[in-house]
Amino acid sequence: MNSSSASASRFVAGAQSSPPILPGAAIGVLGGGQLGRMFAIAARELGYRIHVYSPDDDSPAGQIGDKEYSRSYDDLDQIRAFAREVRVVTFEFENVPSATTRAAAEIVPVRPDGQVLHVTQHRLREKTFLQANGFPVTPFRRVTSLAELEQSVSELGLPAVLKTASFGYDGKGQVKLKSPVELPAAWNTLGGAEGIYEAFVDFEKEVSVVAARTGAGEFAAFPVFENTHANHILDVTFAPAVISPELAQEAVELAGGILEKLDVVGLLTVEMFVTKDGRLLVNELAPRTHNSGHLTIDTCVTSQFEQQVRAVCGLSLGSTEMRQPAAMANLLGHLWSKGEPDWAAALRDPLVKLHLYGKAQPRAGRKMGHLTATGQTTQEAVDRVVRARERL
Ligand code: AMP
Repeated sequence: MNSSSASASRFVAGAQSSPPILPGAAIGVLGGGQLGRMFAIAARELGYRIHVYSPDDDSPAGQIGDKEYSRSYDDLDQIRAFAREVRVVTFEFENVPSATTRAAAEIVPVRPDGQVLHVTQHRLREKTFLQANGFPVTPFRRVTSLAELEQSVSELGLPAVLKTASFGYDGKGQVKLKSPVELPAAWNTLGGAEGIYEAFVDFEKEVSVVAARTGAGEFAAFPVFENTHANHILDVTFAPAVISPELAQEAVELAGGILEKLDVVGLLTVEMFVTKDGRLLVNELAPRTHNSGHLTIDTCVTSQFEQQVRAVCGLSLGSTEMRQPAAMANLLGHLWSKGEPDWAAALRDPLVKLHLYGKAQPRAGRKMGHLTATGQTTQEAVDRVVRARERL
């Protein structure tokens, strides 16, 4: 396979930095899911304490944290109480209300800050920001009525994807449109919510760049990940992506430009399409670690979770170098349909690693865990991880 391992690290002189938050201090995490869990594990390895805030009890992250607040994000007094006990607040779930991060930010730094969250939790604001700053995106329109949807079709054509502007992930809140007869039904699926109409991208592949930036302006990106989806949910990621070194470099530089323009302190993931004619288009930003970055735990000098700790605490960033090509396969709830999967069978291969998230209810489509495998080539790593999952 012709693959590239472009990653980048650079230092921007002259940026302001505050003293680092050192091990022993407490870090607050908004959100209790698996990203928070793996962040908490990394932070604990470094000797930090972790306080988790989410509406759930016994959450995947809460199981690892020193303290778990099981409260509503709207309970601002509790958010302030949570913030008073920590030195910095970060998150693993970006759909928290702005009022929540504002209340926390009255007391301690929130990293990335509320402005980054504001842009990235709304698809229209996000694409408008990207386009206005010269980052490549597919053509799009704002849609708030059936008439505007019809107007968008006449301007941008079909096929297209109609998405809700807020609270969408893993393909939730989006429909593909192929023909004008589908418009009224598609508009109804939005239930009156503000939408974004996007020209359909007939892409060659999907890739992502997970990158970190510190308050001092230090930047580091992981090698480009290549992602395949099943039913709109990430299925398998492998790295390095099978793209030219030049395109990999371009993807990393694109991510660097976005983190700088948004003034991100922390991590940000840029999901991109590679078009059939070899161009990059940004699909989505996530101001946090990402499912596609899980393989960094088992193959990179620094995992994406440790990198988040370093970035939000103002430490120097760790090396993003990959020790070996790797692949990750998600484990979704349907694997439990005939009872507990056969973990021992998956682990018969000594190069396969199992990560489970401590979720009690294996619902269909729910991310319950993942497997990672390394190999001499990306293809070998993919074959190994897919075979291990089949043995479950
Ligand atoms: P999203 O929720 O925006 O990340 O979209 C989920 C998945 O839907 C993406 O990973 C793509 O596979 C697909 N998708 C989203 N937007 C488009 C588009 N404009 N053109 C083609 N496929 C898309």
